[in-house]
Amino acid sequence: MTLASDFAGLPAHAQTPAPNRDFSRYRIVPARYPARIIGTIFAGVVLFAVLNSVLANPRWGWDVFAEWFFAEPVLAGLGRTLLLTLLGTVFGFLLGTGLALARVSGSPLLASLSWGYVWLFRSIPLIVLLLILNNLGYLYSTVWLGIPFTEITFASWSTTQLITPFLAAVLGLTLNAAAFSSEIVRGGILSVDQGQLEAAAALGLPRRRQVSRIVLPQAMRSILPTAFNEVITLAKGTSQVYILALPELFYTIQVIYRRNLEVIPLLMVATVWYLVILSVLSFVQHHIERYYSRGALRNPPPSVIDRALRWLGRSRVPAAAGNGFASPAQAPAANGATSLSTLSRRSGGEIRISHVSKSFGSLKVLDDVNLALRPGSVTAIIGQSGSGKSTLLRSINHLERVDEGFIAIDGELIGYRQDGETLYELKEKDILTRRVDVGMVFQNFNLFPHLTAIENIVEAPVTVRGLSREQALAEARELLARVGLAEKADAYPRQLSGGQQQRVAIARALALRPKVLLFDEPTSALDPELVGEVLDVIKELARSGTTLVIVTHEIGFAREVADQVVFMEAGRILETGTPAQVFGNPHHLRTREFLAKVL
Ligand code: ADP
Ligand code: MG
Repeated sequence: MTLASDFAGLPAHAQTPAPNRDFSRYRIVPARYPARIIGTIFAGVVLFAVLNSVLANPRWGWDVFAEWFFAEPVLAGLGRTLLLTLLGTVFGFLLGTGLALARVSGSPLLASLSWGYVWLFRSIPLIVLLLILNNLGYLYSTVWLGIPFTEITFASWSTTQLITPFLAAVLGLTLNAAAFSSEIVRGGILSVDQGQLEAAAALGLPRRRQVSRIVLPQAMRSILPTAFNEVITLAKGTSQVYILALPELFYTIQVIYRRNLEVIPLLMVATVWYLVILSVLSFVQHHIERYYSRGALRNPPPSVIDRALRWLGRSRVPAAAGNGFASPAQAPAANGATSLSTLSRRSGGEIRISHVSKSFGSLKVLDDVNLALRPGSVTAIIGQSGSGKSTLLRSINHLERVDEGFIAIDGELIGYRQDGETLYELKEKDILTRRVDVGMVFQNFNLFPHLTAIENIVEAPVTVRGLSREQALAEARELLARVGLAEKADAYPRQLSGGQQQRVAIARALALRPKVLLFDEPTSALDPELVGEVLDVIKELARSGTTLVIVTHEIGFAREVADQVVFMEAGRILETGTPAQVFGNPHHLRTREFLAKVL
């Protein structure tokens, strides 16, 4: 009787309790794969043939190789190659990042300058560029520092003395690498999701911080593989510098084999050193990539070091906490006293929307919208998809600029500074500062995936509100406890369920203590059983004093929580009233039809 037939014919539920048979005495025969065995033998033969031909053929001259591999001039050449690679990489990527940022900036002039640079320096072969730079003294006999188009000079040098072959090499490699790395960095920037920028802007993070903390770290994931390609190209490209008679590795090797005529052994010296450089770079790449993939995978594989330690039987990571949930000194035990309402203790803002219109091309998305929201009130906006609900919400936060009309929070106009009868458009920087008063929770959460839950929350309070890190962390722990996620502080967003992610997003918005909190369909990306946990958190926020505006299709929830219900259609407000009025006795035929569909 075989194992399989032991189970055959048993009904499914009968399999669950362990059968009374002791399988431990059965012998297990591993599966055999004949093709794999043949393949392995073939690979072994090929490997042996290659090694045999390389090691047994005396013409490879391994004795000469051994004599020169660590010879002083070779090591000096290697040092120069490494230095050139390092300088080319550092300066090339610095310039390249600047060029990429210029290219994606709002300024057409900067963008075209950057485009022109890339066009020019990607076209010129490196070897030609090096020769031009080396002969710069012919074009310009002196280099001077001063004020252009005047006689004022602070210092001047003779070009031929200043631009040594080494400097020409560094310049050439830098200019060349910058052109390619600029495109690599730009590709990375383009790969970052738009929602991430909106979330960062909604938190009022300054532009510089948005780039350094949110965009570039996430761009790194797609930048790194191609960037290392570029570094490797550069490391090998340094060999072209021999044209300047600069004794880097390849030039040194050439000088030696011209003298002793041992061409192949010396070329092997160079080859093996380039192999070593490449191996080191690959190792470094692996580790940098790992670092920047934080939060990108639900269950990151253990690092080489972790695996080695585990193999040695003394794992650094306790098995139970292997997935990033380990957190020292856990959040203050949820002390029942602080509620969400007391945490967001700011009093609510009054929102006035008057005669607001907005079009995308020929499509009028908001059409003369008028609405007043009392401080601390809860407003539910309902309406069909495409009726302009999100656009209205985003206009309150100035993520969209309206064409006509005004929106004011506590009498302060969104997007303008008022001075008597004059309105001055605010600069991006000032708009960001004002956003602190308006929190936003997105349909797709838009948490920063490379930051843990708690890092998502403390980012804005530290940068924008100027809290100390300790204080921000303490507040964030409290907020997490209040949304029921105290133990998830160190989890990355991808390690959380949708409902948990949305609760972190709410905590993140609350950490700025906004006067107004906007929710754009906060539960519509969630599985039905997760909707309740998010709505419960919002319910607790209602009547906390913060003014809430919620776009939602959860009619039951709106009926329970809202003071005011707004029904929108085709960019217009068709009906407003208390939940009892709008849901119980809608005036408008369209409202009735809509409710019949969603109820
Ligand atoms: P809702 O949130 O009510 O579903 P939206 O405010 O998102 O509606 O969109 C209203 C209308 O505006 C839709 O027809 C949509 O296609 C259009 N729209 C929204 N954003 C843009 C945009 N950036 N460019 C062009 N059309 C847009
Ligand atoms: Mg919408």
